[in-house]
Amino acid sequence: MSGNKNTILVVDDQPANLQVLLTFLKQCGYHTRVADSGERALITLGKDEKPDLILLDVMMPGIDGFETCRRIKANPGTCEIPVIFMTALDSVEDKVNGFEAGGVDYITKPFQQVEVLARVNTHVTLGQQKALLEETQRELLLHKIRLEELVITDPLTGLHNRRYLDTVLPREFEQAKRHSNDLACLMLDLDHFKRINDTFGHEFGDTVLKKFADILALNVRSGDYAFRYGGEEFVALLPLTGKTGAIEVGEKIRIALAAHEFSHSTVDESVRLTISVGVATMCSQQPLTPNELIACADQALYMAKANGRNQLVFQEKSQSY
Ligand code: GH3
Ligand code: MG
Ligand code: MG
Repeated sequence: MSGNKNTILVVDDQPANLQVLLTFLKQCGYHTRVADSGERALITLGKDEKPDLILLDVMMPGIDGFETCRRIKANPGTCEIPVIFMTALDSVEDKVNGFEAGGVDYITKPFQQVEVLARVNTHVTLGQQKALLEETQRELLLHKIRLEELVITDPLTGLHNRRYLDTVLPREFEQAKRHSNDLACLMLDLDHFKRINDTFGHEFGDTVLKKFADILALNVRSGDYAFRYGGEEFVALLPLTGKTGAIEVGEKIRIALAAHEFSHSTVDESVRLTISVGVATMCSQQPLTPNELIACADQALYMAKANGRNQLVFQEKSQSY
């Protein structure tokens, strides 16, 4: 267990020469681990707890420090660990090689302990700040995704809201037009819903809305959309669906709600509820605009209400167009 202490992995084929440095780093609050070859360093990195920094010799039997560093950087599990080269090689070319291999710093032997410590401290701190920043970025991204969901979701029912319909409808409309596909719109409004609120209270009314939203969501296919359009009014948008399919879905929803028994503590028998449905479709023979499609479904709904409710009406073309 490393506790809160940071761990430095020192890789050197002659670790005995580094004993003084290791003792110094321990005195300064670091845990130290030693590997005496590049191969052993890669093995320990593969199975043990990851160190916070690696001090890496270059000239070693087997794979040298540059190659060891390249492999550390190529592995997603270890690529974030800062590597500082610590070597007797002191030419500019060697230093450039070290940075190109993925090192963050380069110390030449013989070294000053305090300088090694200063560089180690700097890169451990930078590594921690980077990790913190990445964590914050991940959290922000999750918040953003959640916010984007909230913006298009109706809080009571969990269905999409009207704002999202305004985004989806033109998109699905263009798609249908481009490929000469059908697109159906169902507008559904609970019958005499005000009475439910008036008789059993607003809270029970909310329960009914939620239950109906579940029925609606359950009866549309995965590529379809269900929206809460307003108070007790809902819209379903069904891509690739013509008149027959749309009527089938609408009827299924209407019948499912009519069959559902709501129970309320103040009454013995169950409470039942119906819905009126207006259906309109667009296809290449009936090229309505998005607004016309909605208006058509709305007029059909109006007729369903006028004809006595608890029924579905299909509207071929809006009266005013
Ligand atoms: P119709 O058959 O003609 O549609 O009659 P209706 O009573 O269903 O329609 P009306 O438009 O007269 O009343 C709708 C009611 O829905 C009134 C409003 O208070 C209620 N309502 C709207 N939003 C909510 C909500 O979020 N929760 C609850 N409980 N009621 C709501
Ligand atoms: Mg209503
Ligand atoms: Mg209404």
